[in-house]
This record gives sequence, C-alpha cells and structure tokens, in this order.
Amino acid sequence: MDNNILAQLLFPTVTDTPEALENRYPPRNLPEGAIVTRMAPSPTGFVHLGNLVQGLTAERMAHQSGGVLFLRVEDTDAKREVPGAVEVLLNTLKHYGISFDEGAVIDGDSGLYGPYRQRQRASIYHVYAKKLVENGMAYPCFCTEEELSAMREQQEANKETTGYYGAYALWRDRPLEDIQAQLSENKPWVLRFRSTGNAENQFKFEDLVKGKLTVTENNIDHVLLKSDGIPTYHFAHAVDDHLMRTTHVVRGDEWLPTLPFHLQLFKALDFKLPKYVHIGPLMKMDGTSKRKLSKRKDRELALTFYKAEGFPVEAVYEYIMTLLNSNYEDWRRANPNAPAAEFKFSPKKLNPAGNLFDYAKLTDVSKNEIAKMDADQVYKLLVEWAEDFDPDFASKLKADPAYATSILAIGRGGKKPRKDLSTWKEAKPYMGFFYDDYLEEPVFDEKFSKETVITALTKFLEKFDIADDSGVWFEKVKEITEELGFTSDMKAYKADPSAFPGTVADVSTFIRQAVTGKTNSPDLYTVMQILGFDRTVSRIRTVIEKLH
Ligand code: GLU
Repeated sequence: MDNNILAQLLFPTVTDTPEALENRYPPRNLPEGAIVTRMAPSPTGFVHLGNLVQGLTAERMAHQSGGVLFLRVEDTDAKREVPGAVEVLLNTLKHYGISFDEGAVIDGDSGLYGPYRQRQRASIYHVYAKKLVENGMAYPCFCTEEELSAMREQQEANKETTGYYGAYALWRDRPLEDIQAQLSENKPWVLRFRSTGNAENQFKFEDLVKGKLTVTENNIDHVLLKSDGIPTYHFAHAVDDHLMRTTHVVRGDEWLPTLPFHLQLFKALDFKLPKYVHIGPLMKMDGTSKRKLSKRKDRELALTFYKAEGFPVEAVYEYIMTLLNSNYEDWRRANPNAPAAEFKFSPKKLNPAGNLFDYAKLTDVSKNEIAKMDADQVYKLLVEWAEDFDPDFASKLKADPAYATSILAIGRGGKKPRKDLSTWKEAKPYMGFFYDDYLEEPVFDEKFSKETVITALTKFLEKFDIADDSGVWFEKVKEITEELGFTSDMKAYKADPSAFPGTVADVSTFIRQAVTGKTNSPDLYTVMQILGFDRTVSRIRTVIEKLH
C-alpha cells in the first residue's frame, strides 16, 4: 500500500511538518543538568495527596537543578472534566507551595511551549500522526464497539491476552480500497499504532525510582487517536513531553504497564527518551494489611480534607517530605529552622513500593510545626482557617486580636514550647472557654459533695487577688486544701489514699472547672490573668449559685 496516499486521505488538512514543530519549540537554553519536568493532571476537580506527592517530587527536582516546572492540563477525556477544575488545581497546589514556572494558568497559558491544554493541541498531534502513517507505523481501524467486545469475549473464553493484536488486528493489513470504501461512507475510525513488539521478549529498563526493571515488549496495536481526532494519553504525552522538552517524566506507577508501549512510541517518533520517575502509591493500614488509599473509601486522600481539618500547609509539606526522603527527618533535626528548599532532595530515595500514609505521624509533625510558630502567626493562620470553616469563632477571634493572641501565647516560645494544638480545628475545644458564649457548664466529680465544692470555691473567692504572682496564688490554693481537710502532700496521699478525702489536685480541679468549664485547660493561673479579676470572679460566683 502507498502509505503517503493513505496519510493524505486520513489527514488532508495537515500541512505542518515535524521539522517545523521542532523549530517552533526549540530545545531549551538551560545549563547542563537542569531538569525540565511537569505535572500533567486531568482536570477532574479532585486534587489528592498523590498529586501533592508527585507535584512536590517534580517541583524539587526541577527547582533544585535550576530547571523548569510546568503545568500541562490533560483534558483529552472530556467526559471526566469538571468546570473550574483548573482553577481548583492551581489554587490548591499554590496553597501547598508548588508554583509553576510556566504552563496552563486559570484562563490561558503562560510560556513559550504551549498551548498547555491538550485539547488545544489537536493539530500538533495530527502532524505526528500523519508522519507515523507515512512511515507505515500507524493505520486506521474501523472496528465497531460491538466487534471489539465480541473479540474480547472470545479472547477471554480462549484464555488469551485481550487486546488488538496478531490475528485480532483486523485492520492492520487491509488494502487501501477497503479503507477508502469505509472513508467514503464516513465511517468513524481510530488511528492505531502498528506494533512490532513480541510479547515473548523481555528487556531491561532503568527507572529513577524503581531501579532496574525487566519489562515485556508490547505487541498490542494501541489506539493513538480516538474517533474524534483527540489523542489517547499515550500518544499525547509522547508528543507533548518531547515538544515541551521534558527531561524527566514524574508520574504515578499505574503507568508502568503501558511503559513498553511508550518506549516504542518515542522510538517510532524519533524522539529522545526522557528519564522516567515512577512514583509508588500511597497506602494505609487497613486492619493488619496495607492497601492503596482510595478516593471512594478514604476521605484523607482529598487535599481539601487537610484544609478543613486545619493542618497548616507547612505541616503537610514537612510530612510529605519525611515520606519521600527517609533522611529528611535527620536533616530537619540538625537544621530545625532552615527552609525546606535547602534539603538535598533525591528521587533515588523514594520508596519504590510506595509509602504508608500515617495519620498519627502527620498529626505529630503538625503539632511540632505549630509549636514552632509565634502567637501572631498562630493567630493569623487560625483566623484564616476559621473564616472558612467556623465563621462564628473567626468573628470572636477578630473582635479582640490582642486578647486572642494573649491566649495563643500561653506556653509558647522558650526551649520547650507546649504542644497543645495539632490542627486549627482543635483550637476551639482548647481555648473556646475564654469566650463566654462557648463556656460549658462544669460537671463536678460526684465523689465530692456539693458543699465541699461550694466551700472550696467560696474560700478561693475570699483569697483571690489578681495581683498575686503564681507562687502566692498556688500557696493560697494549698491553704484552702488544708482548711478542707484535704492534703497538699501528694506523696502522703499516694502512700495511703484512704487517709484523705481529697488533694490539692482536686481543689485545683474545682476551681479550674468553675473558671473554664473543663477538667483540662492551659495553666490556670495564666488563664485567670488573661480573663481578669472581674470575669474570673463572676464565673466562679455563677457556678456557686447554680450549685445551691
Ligand atoms: N494525566 C495523567 C494522570 O492524571 C498524567 C500522567 C503523567 O504525568 O504523565 O494520571
């Protein structure tokens, strides 16, 4: 068959050439060793932790090497596309500190290697599709859905590999007249790759994360262009990564099974092969076994979840870094305040099998990150979170910033800062009692009679002086303890608890509950200092009245 005639029949309007495209998108002028890589998500509106893992890997590799990170929107599957998804994606990634040097922006493109949305690149793919047909490496296939599913059923019944290959490749060697006849009837067609691979053969391939792999040759004539002329991921990524001058393809390892086909494509198209960085999945423990995080079952896969829980961006970033490079934690211990960008990131340190996502560890990392912040920073981030997720709390915080900041300053700073918060969501349960509207009624331990509690609180009111220092303040609590017949000697109490009706800890708890509504709170002396004399006294009085 004359392939040039076929190519002209299939792509009559294509006049551009691969050479012209090569010139339009010349090699980038970057120093030796600079990595050009990308994120190439599909705009489904759902941004997940895996996107962040890949994004961070790509971002570190590009920027650490003085290279380029770009964003390409893979919108070839119109059915999956959600309006506004690109905006969600850009904003979310930016929120996590991943910024692109070029690529798709909210309403267009920024950069010289675009367009960066695949559907806008149809004419580019057609140039290469035409070339492949001319070279005898691609051909049209007119099989209907029914024919293809009948084929699949037969293959399954025969326990054969499913797919379009060998004797099943019905249109692979059809004469030009048959093709012309179908075209003249306007029958829909897809363009297929003419594979010369043999499924009996294996070869070696080196991936930057997975190491040396033994892979099997592809013998399937996969689809390159769908019937609407839009390419499949396989063909599109080869053309795009070549023309956008990508040096490293960073992507999920779900693409490994089709890698042999991708390698064939780069060869057939005469493109230099990029390096591949295939990242393993995120997993979680489910009972005693590991499984992949699933979009359907695990709400912690969505990045919006971390925002809503109120994990500071820094915490999520730190945690992902510890997942990606096992030496990150040691580095962080040695350099507690250095910017993360100073860490020498290496894709070789990624776990080839993927990573176990550990929520408890993230919480721990987050607690440390928040403990490192000063009260002003905590205030700012907490208000930002509350404005989105708890507007009532936000308005209370904003009504008196100095008051809120003084609360958030409790136990902060110094060598051993307190670690009271691991998320912003925990802030209201922790400090809400400082606001009268959120104050809960105390429930005293039934072990103690109402009279005992009333006596303790009344005595406290008699002695309370806001000007006391914490030492004097505590001496007074001890005096009340002794007056009640309780003990301040915890050692003696531990030795024989039955000898005492209660201890100084119980008296402190009565007062704490009366002032905060809770049995647990930040340092009670400091709480009273922040609340001030009048509010402290009035809270205790109210409780005494209610107890009567
Ligand atoms: N659009 C593909 C995906 O979302 C991208 C794979 C790649 O990065 O090449 O999985």
